[in-house]
This record gives sequence, structure tokens and C-alpha cells, in this order.
Amino acid sequence: MAREPLRLSKSRFLAGLQCHKQLWWRVHEPDAPELVPDAGHRNILNQGNEVGRKAREYVPGGTLVDLPFHQFDNKVARTREVLQCDPAPPAIYEATFLADETYAAVDILERGPRGYGLVEVKATNSLKPEHLPDVAIQVHVLRRAGLPVERAEVMHLNRDCRYPDLGNLFVREDVSAPVEGVLLGVSDELAAQHRMLEGSLPDVPIGDHCSRPHDCPFIDRCWPKLPLHHVSSLYRIERKQVLEYEADGYATLYDLPSDLELSAIHARQVRAVTAGRMVVEPALTKALAAFPSPLAFLDFETVSLAIPRWNGCRPWQNVPVQFSCHVEERGRGLVHHEWLADGPGDRDPRPALAEALVAACAGARRIVAYYASFERECVRQLAAAVPRLAPELERIERRLVDLLPLIRNYVYHPDFGGSFSIKRTLPALVPGLSYADLKIREGETATLELMRLLFTGDELPPGARADLREALLRYCERDTWAMVRMLEQLRGLVAQQLELF
Ligand code: SF4
Repeated sequence: MAREPLRLSKSRFLAGLQCHKQLWWRVHEPDAPELVPDAGHRNILNQGNEVGRKAREYVPGGTLVDLPFHQFDNKVARTREVLQCDPAPPAIYEATFLADETYAAVDILERGPRGYGLVEVKATNSLKPEHLPDVAIQVHVLRRAGLPVERAEVMHLNRDCRYPDLGNLFVREDVSAPVEGVLLGVSDELAAQHRMLEGSLPDVPIGDHCSRPHDCPFIDRCWPKLPLHHVSSLYRIERKQVLEYEADGYATLYDLPSDLELSAIHARQVRAVTAGRMVVEPALTKALAAFPSPLAFLDFETVSLAIPRWNGCRPWQNVPVQFSCHVEERGRGLVHHEWLADGPGDRDPRPALAEALVAACAGARRIVAYYASFERECVRQLAAAVPRLAPELERIERRLVDLLPLIRNYVYHPDFGGSFSIKRTLPALVPGLSYADLKIREGETATLELMRLLFTGDELPPGARADLREALLRYCERDTWAMVRMLEQLRGLVAQQLELF
């Protein structure tokens, strides 16, 4: 019996364009655990779908090919029916075609005077180079299926749009000309992918393509496990430099020659790793003077929505909806303040959050944050969103000091592993304290859980909702408690140094 031909789709073609080996695994192992989308990926997909639905409102009057995702052949047949309708609709949403054993579904297909316009909707704030092959494969399939395509566009989100005026939520960019260039190679690439899929797993060396344009899900299968303190663990080292060190025979930091020219941070990292202990620069003493009591320690958590919902917000803006603040208060010691939005999602949480923040920070001389540019941006946004509190919020912004450079410029512990993220520095500087005991342990999960609480929290049973709130509060609290304890440790290290001299 003849075997069914292996069919490609737009997403498979794009995976194959990145790497044939990746495509082979995607096709031959569709149930591979690496292909199960994680929560972050699911959020991107969900928000992308919402943007896709919203875009149809901006090209109204069309007919939707409304069938379940995997019914490709039925969708092709239904598209054919819609195209033959009299009168034909001005647009078809999710029109699906098959040619060259490849399916292509078009977000919006617009009927024009001499042919059709293809519109690919993207939930990004700009046009990206990887969008061109995405459109090109669709144009190729549609033309091979006999449809005259005269124009191709990418319709992406507009970073200049501000809620509540969503009239300019999208920007449409004509990509017909560059897509014609990409099209020249599509036919051969499709044939190559089909041929490759008939054979065994191809041999593809690892390289930059493993993370461009997207992180490959099979990195752990292909990339070798690196030894501890490999040269690639040097703080923010460029891949080119790693390759040069490896070519010179230096695999780990222990192998680097002592006369090698290094940046101050890399030199400190190498010193700490080769000595097997923390290195603290004497100049830390002076740098600590920028942290005078009474201090507040501040951390925000944010949500980010493709389609904005609150006044003045643009697509994908990080909007603060929670904070934790430990404050040194006269006569009371260290006091913890916290605030978390409660939904529903259409109620703007920023006025109440800003009020609580201003009250919490009132008595602090300096406000400590970790990677303070993030907190600074949040405070600026709050000042714009709540003008009546702008003067107080601007005072908060002026008092912000950053703990991260204090560590990065003066301290290195071998357990940092080349990273100064708080998740790495905390357990190294404060043994016994980390995020491991929490239900929510890192920022991306916190963001997703905040979105769940704010936008679908009403659907949760009260107990589950209370648990979720509690988990979020404890996560944010740990961020500011971590700063309190790390600053204590740094002061302790300086005191020890002074005793030694
Ligand atoms: S890790 Fe790299 S080489 Fe391996 S499948 Fe992915 S892209 Fe291809």
C-alpha cells in the first residue's frame, strides 16, 4: 500500500528553515516532551490568538473558516466553498490552502481588484526579519494552489497606540517586495525538507541557528554538557569570544593564563573561581555609603498584555500590579508593606497601588531596588498614570539606589556562575536563604500567575484564589527580604575586612 505523503505546514516549514534536524524531530516525534508548550509559551500563544481575533475587527465583513485546528483538509474544502460564494466576501479569515504537500492558513485574505492580498497578523510591536519567510511560504502555497496573490502584508501591533484609543492598535506594512525575494528559494527548500523527512535523522552541527530566530526545544539533546566554570560562564561573554578561548585551548576559567587581559568583572570572577572563595573588593566600604538608613527595599511585579486594557497603556507594556517593600521605620525596626491587585482585570490597579507605595516609602532616605532601572520605569509609569501623586512618585524615583551594581562591581562568589541575578546571588551571599521553599520561584511564573489572578481569578474557587494570592505575596516579599539580607551580609563583609587591617 502506498504511504501517505508527509505533509508540511507553515510552522513546520519555518522550523525546517531554522534546522532540518529540528524539523525531523518535530515530524517524527510529535509527542516529544520538549514540544509540550510551557506556561510562558502558552501565554504567548493565547495572547497571539487574541490579537488574531482582534485584527479581524480592523478588516471587517469577512467570513471565518471556523473549523477545529487539526481539520486541515476540511478547512481547505471550506475555503474553496467560500471563494466560490456569490457575492464573494471582501475577506476570509483563516483561509487554508494545500499545494506542494504543504498547508498554509492565512490570517486574513483580502479580495482586491486584480487578485488577493494576504495579511499575516503578528502580536509583536514591530516587523521582524523572520516574518518574511513566514509570509513567503504562504504566498508560495496560495499561488501554487492557483490563487492570484498581488500583495502581502504584515499587520503588527503599534507601539504608539495608547488605551483607550485602540483605533491605531495595528500597523499594516506592505512586505510584497522583500517577500518576492525570499520566494525565490522557497520551492527548493520545500523539496529539500520533503526529501530529508523521508530519510533518517539528518546530521546537523550545533551553532548560532540553535537560538535564532527562536530557541530550539532540542538544545539539551544536541548541545554537550559543559564543565563547571566553562569559559562561556564568564559574565555576559560574547559567543565569539568563547569560541576564541576554546580555539586557544582554554575550556574552563582554571585554564586561562594569568597574564590574559580581562575586564575588571571577569578578572574578579576568575580570581574567585580559581581561589575557590568569595572575592570582596576593599572599595566596597566606600560604595556602601550610598545606602544610608532609613532605607526602604522595593520590588514590583508586573503584567504585560498584547492588547492594553488600562488608560495610557501601550501593547506589551509592563504594568506594575504588585509591590513589596521592607522599610526601616524609626522606633519600629524593619516593617513589611505589600500590595497586590485583586481584579477584575478591567479595573485599573495603579491608583490604589501608587497610593500604597507613596505611604510605604514616606520616611525612607533611599529606596533600594535590585536592577533599579526596572523599578524606575514602573515608578515613572505610575506617575504618568496617577498625575495627582506624580510629585511624590518623582521623589521616590529620585531616591532609588541599585543594589545590583554594588555586588557586580565589588563582589564575586564562585556560586554566582557568571550571573548577578538575585536568584544566583542570594543563596551564595546568604546561605540558607533562596526561593526554593516558595510555591512561585521565579519572575516569569509570577507574571503568568498574576495574569491568571487578575483576568480569570473570578473563575477560581475562593480557596484556590486565596492560595494564589498568598503564593504571589510570598514571592514578592522574598525579593525585598533578599535585598535586606544581602545588604546586611555586605556590611558584615566590610566589617570583617576592617577588623583584618
Ligand atoms: S539544537 Fe540546534 S542542531 Fe539541534 S535540532 Fe536544535 S537547532 Fe538543530
